[in-house]
Amino acid sequence: MNKEEITEALLLEDFSLMYEEADHIRLVNKGDDVFIRAIIEFSNVCARKCFYCGINAANNKVNRYRMSYREITETAEAGIKAGYRTVVLQSGEVRDEDPEWLGQIIKKIKKHDGVAVTLSVGEQDHDVLKYYRDCGADRYLLKHETADPELYGKLHPDGTLEERIRCLRDIKALGYETGSGFMTGLPGQTTESIADDILLLKELECDMAGIGPFIPHPDTPLAGTSHGDPEITRRAVALARIILPEANLPVTTALGVLDPNERRKAFSCGANVIMKKITPDIYKKDYCIYPAVFGRTEIEKDRIELEKLIEETDRRPI
Ligand code: SAH
Repeated sequence: MNKEEITEALLLEDFSLMYEEADHIRLVNKGDDVFIRAIIEFSNVCARKCFYCGINAANNKVNRYRMSYREITETAEAGIKAGYRTVVLQSGEVRDEDPEWLGQIIKKIKKHDGVAVTLSVGEQDHDVLKYYRDCGADRYLLKHETADPELYGKLHPDGTLEERIRCLRDIKALGYETGSGFMTGLPGQTTESIADDILLLKELECDMAGIGPFIPHPDTPLAGTSHGDPEITRRAVALARIILPEANLPVTTALGVLDPNERRKAFSCGANVIMKKITPDIYKKDYCIYPAVFGRTEIEKDRIELEKLIEETDRRPI
């Protein structure tokens, strides 16, 4: 599909045939498995001032934390014990930190057979990315956020789309399974630019892509703007499935998949992955990239509940 066709599809009055197509492509290429990934938000310390993000460096209302080596590895081990095979380590972006600290954590988690480590720690220099890869990190998530260079520039006072893409290409070249993605409904975003977002995923040969609605945070420059449309978000996921048949596409947390009425819809638009927070309760509330209410974390019980939800949609939790 080209840009015009994707734009037209996003605006269709009736998208149901596209959803069917996306769901079929998902079944043929990925089967009925739904991969559940555990995510540990190990630090909200951040040097960047991204306009949409609640933990951006300019927000001085945030209670900053960084979990210790022990807290992170013990949380990861509790997740592995509960059945998770992938641990996602996510944080704000800091570049001057000692990479060996995170390197040791990656190595420790990788001692568990068959467990994959995914990093989501922002833009890093090639040497640092290579070092983490050498420590055993398997995958890297770095969303391009928006493929519109002008909008990107407005929302990111300390970065350019070009730098973001360069970093994504480094990640890919280092042999990481590479994940990009974007937000829908950003103030100033057009439908055409969402088509560009989907085409950029293809151009970058993404192995994974996270697509979620923008949700305004009250303590950011975008306070008071409106949130992204869940329907457009699901359409973008479906089109990403059609264009990248083999990619792993998560149902993003921001899509509110766990609202019982949305569940079936969320998994029938082409998605095959879901992430579950296992961040300890004392920290979880401070990793507030957008306003949301999260219940208490009970790693084993949460996993069992999520497996049940997935089985109820006739899919197989992994
Ligand atoms: N520092 C890391 C992790 C960022 S948080 C990095 O730069 O990659 C992970 C993702 O949350 C971001 O990539 C962004 O797409 C999303 N996000 C941040 N603020 C958001 C908001 N207000 N609404 C919806 N998604 C948001």
